[in-house]
Formats: sequence, structure tokens, C-alpha cells
Amino acid sequence: MDNCLFCKISRGEIPARKVFEDEQVVVIEDIAPVAPHHLLIIPHKHVVNALDLDTGDNALIGHVFQVAARIARERGIAEQGFRIVNNNNAGAGQSVFHIHFHLLAGRNLGWPPG
Ligand code: C5P
Repeated sequence: MDNCLFCKISRGEIPARKVFEDEQVVVIEDIAPVAPHHLLIIPHKHVVNALDLDTGDNALIGHVFQVAARIARERGIAEQGFRIVNNNNAGAGQSVFHIHFHLLAGRNLGWPPG
């Protein structure tokens, strides 16, 4: 997608603080962190949000969660607890319309989320 911000980050056309990348996802530090650990796990594939997924994406979404768990262990935040957040549509806080998963940790995460 030519004008998609996260497609551009995925292709390396816009700078980002990349912490991991493989053939399916790129993981970056969020530019405006809301927790001591705030990463974005971004599939390279342009999918708008959960409403745009099909069964062919099942392995991709499983991979996202495996990457999140691996990073949480590597950062030493697995045991204290971490949260994976995916906002779908503006009413839920989605501001970038390319599916992504926030990995949040390092502070007391309230429940329910705001
Ligand atoms: O869930 P939502 O769509 O609001 O998340 C988008 C996230 O992308 C925000 O947390 C925002 O800070 C982040 N962002 C970023 N780098 C950009 C633009 C947005 O990390 N260049």
C-alpha cells in the first residue's frame, strides 16, 4: 500500500527503532510509548485490522503471539506480566489502519483498559 505508514516502515522507507524483524513481521519501539516497554508488532502484510483477516492469516497471527512471547522472555518481562493490545477501528483507538499489536509492560497495567 503506497500511502500506508506501517507499510513504509515495513519496507524501511520511514525510519523506526526496529528491535526485531523476520519474513513475517517487524517489531519497533512505539514512537510515543505509554509504558516502559511499548513495542509494536507489525505484520509486513497489509491487513487493515482484525475485520480484514481471513483464514490464510491464521498462521501469521499465531506467529505474532509467538514473537511477542519470545520478546517478553528476552526482556525479562514475561513473569511480571505483559499485555498484547490490538485496537480495531477508531472507536477503539485505532489510528494506523495497518494491523499491529502493542506489547506493553513495565508498569501496573490497569483493568479494564481505558
Ligand atoms: O492502536 P493505534 O493504531 O492507535 O496504534 C498506533 C501506534 O503507532 C501509536 O501507539 C503511535 O504512537 C504509533 N506510531 C509509531 N510511529 C509512527 C506513528 C505512530 O510508533 N511513526
